[in-house]
Amino acid sequence: MSKYFKWLLLLLAIYLIWNRCAHLFIATNRVIASVGLVYDPGAADSSVRNAYESVLQEEGIPHRWISYHDFILQDGRDQLHRFQALIFPDALCRTIPIDVASRAKQFAQCGGKVLVVFDAGTRDRRGHYRKKGIFVNLLGVDYVQYDRLRNAAYLTSHLKFNSAADAAYWQIPPGKVSPSNELMSYIYGPMNFSVPATRLTSSSTRVYASSPFGPVLSRRPVGKGEAVWIGIPLGALKASGDDLELRAFLRTFVETIAELPHLVPSPRGLGGLVIDWHVDYNGEWIWLPSMLSHHLVRKGIHYEFDVTAGPDNNHPGDGEGFDAAGRGRPLVKEIMHYGWIGSHGGWLHNWFAHNLERHKLSRREILHLVQINDECLQNITGYPIISYAAPQGVHPQPEMTEILQQLGMCAYYYTGDAGSAPNRTFYNGRMVSKKVVAFPIMPNQNTASFYEMGEKHFSTQEIETWLDGTMKYVIKQRTVRLIYSHPHDLNTPQLRHAFSHFIDGVQVELRKGDLQVEPMYVYAHFLLRLVKTRTSFTRIKGEWIVHLSNPQGLNDVCIDMPAALLQKSFTLPATVSSRKTGDHWLFTILPDLQDLTLQLPAAKN
Ligand SMILES: [Zn+2]
Repeated sequence: MSKYFKWLLLLLAIYLIWNRCAHLFIATNRVIASVGLVYDPGAADSSVRNAYESVLQEEGIPHRWISYHDFILQDGRDQLHRFQALIFPDALCRTIPIDVASRAKQFAQCGGKVLVVFDAGTRDRRGHYRKKGIFVNLLGVDYVQYDRLRNAAYLTSHLKFNSAADAAYWQIPPGKVSPSNELMSYIYGPMNFSVPATRLTSSSTRVYASSPFGPVLSRRPVGKGEAVWIGIPLGALKASGDDLELRAFLRTFVETIAELPHLVPSPRGLGGLVIDWHVDYNGEWIWLPSMLSHHLVRKGIHYEFDVTAGPDNNHPGDGEGFDAAGRGRPLVKEIMHYGWIGSHGGWLHNWFAHNLERHKLSRREILHLVQINDECLQNITGYPIISYAAPQGVHPQPEMTEILQQLGMCAYYYTGDAGSAPNRTFYNGRMVSKKVVAFPIMPNQNTASFYEMGEKHFSTQEIETWLDGTMKYVIKQRTVRLIYSHPHDLNTPQLRHAFSHFIDGVQVELRKGDLQVEPMYVYAHFLLRLVKTRTSFTRIKGEWIVHLSNPQGLNDVCIDMPAALLQKSFTLPATVSSRKTGDHWLFTILPDLQDLTLQLPAAKN
């Protein structure tokens, strides 16, 4: 080895050490608003890490991953310059040492917010259960009782909130909880979760939700900060196709409890609805005109109509299809004025769903049937068909989404992740597609369409309450949800009245500028652009420097900045509009900029 090369190596080593130290210890005159996710590099569960990462990206939450080795090196007070909230995720922190909990406690005492999920700190380095979880004293919850209970230390249970208000605080939409405040699944009733047996060890722990085996969701003041306990495996749930809990609880922790600035996952930061009508068969030759004549389609409310276009329904040749190119054609032309046309499967509604479910169609046949459905509709609309709804919800993953991606589609109605926001869904531990966005249905407990609600004997008042609650939820949380039904579901005067009343309310909110109703592709295009945005919020001396950049443009991207972080008055560039709702400033970027830096006077603290 040449002498020159040795010197070069030495310099490189010095630079790397200096860089690492700078990263950890220097620059305490500035504060970076961010969430730190602590992990054990020895924990190999990449699916859980990817699950957290995907949701944090989609929610525009600035964050960084930090190994527990690096975490221990720094004093809790100094950590606050880099993170104001810390997460110890499920599966990624099982065997972290007890020193980590001391640091986390110090961090909370100095004002930081700490979230501990499920099995963090439950085992020793050999993988055996500890006598006590390392975060017990921080959380005020004893969450490792293996020594005492053995096989009864982990159980399967429903999750019950103390009240509807507590469920709403944690951003659970109204349709996802039963009248007794249990978290509900679409179709199957109360959801089952893996939970540890737990017990309270502190009178200052506030419990929000429990299983019959102890508290599952709690919060406790610690010094100037707080510690939050969530006893279900959020990341593992998301990775296996249940997005809502991770998303709703992370949002609540980061935005409400830690009050961190972030981006808003909907265009212009407005609550958004997709109102998706499935046009299945020739019965809709009657019910679509009925919707029109009862004034249930209105200008300005942009519905999505997903159409099965072929002339047949149950069997080839039965003549029971919607026949979009034939007798259905004038109706497609008519409803195009009230929204957007998407695909509802592969040419024959029931026949396609039936055969798909029984694995009787090859990939080539599926692709061909969806393609001819698309082409038929495109010939009528004059635009490409880029969104999809599975007939009877039959959407085998990941194959079906791969086919949609191949056909250039960007969004699909989805019965997985029920009740959650549009997202790049996971299946068997993997993100299904980076380009095609799933739009989960919003259920009303164990139903979703008006037809199903009728079958389960929901009163029209209950349906109205759910519709109104869903609208208010997306407005308040500035998020997006999809509701769906069929034109033929509105087959009674009572239901038509309930729906008409709902869209009266929608029109009021549209006029106020608090809501948007758009087809799936609008939100999908936005979300796929939003996740490419690089964002930083840094406080240097008396200013917050907000920097955003995105090669695909920043228009309609909205920043949510807690008002408590800023002084009362400030000026903004002409490229940014602002509005204040409650304790938050919302800054929306107007033209097609790729970079933006805001300098805002920071509140004195
Ligand atoms: Zn259908």
